[in-house]
Amino acid sequence: MRTLVLNATYEPLSVVPGRRAVVLMIRDRVDLVEASAESMRTPTSELMVPSVVRLRRYVKAPRYRAIPLTRRTIFARDDGRCQYCGGPADCIDHVMPRSRGGSHSWDNVVAACHACNTKKADRLLHETSMYLARSPGRPQHWVMAAGAADPRWMPYLAQAAY
Ligand SMILES: [Zn+2]
Repeated sequence: MRTLVLNATYEPLSVVPGRRAVVLMIRDRVDLVEASAESMRTPTSELMVPSVVRLRRYVKAPRYRAIPLTRRTIFARDDGRCQYCGGPADCIDHVMPRSRGGSHSWDNVVAACHACNTKKADRLLHETSMYLARSPGRPQHWVMAAGAADPRWMPYLAQAAY
């Protein structure tokens, strides 16, 4: 369980473990924005884990953060699905193979399953009968880099214009 932390201005700031968000609430550092169905047990009580919280005091943060190109962020963008067959992904495929000059960049990497990766081998897409579920690109929001986002976060991410 993870929590989206918004700045005082409602701008998405970071994603923290739910336990950390509970501590921030206890210390009055944040206000609850969206609850979740999850709770956390302590020796004396049961505490609700928030889905979205908002900082009481504004913090200065960069408007734009580069999203690192890693297996984790690629899987997050592609929902862990093979972009060729829709099955569970377990590897990264370069749409234009590296051996044919393809770059290691957001618009040339997709999550794939081992079977599709092997089947495609070092061929170009038009040399196969395979097709992509969607054309790859840079993820729309850095929160994607933190892994699959909670659906309750979406209204706050959509409002962030960057
Ligand atoms: Zn596949």
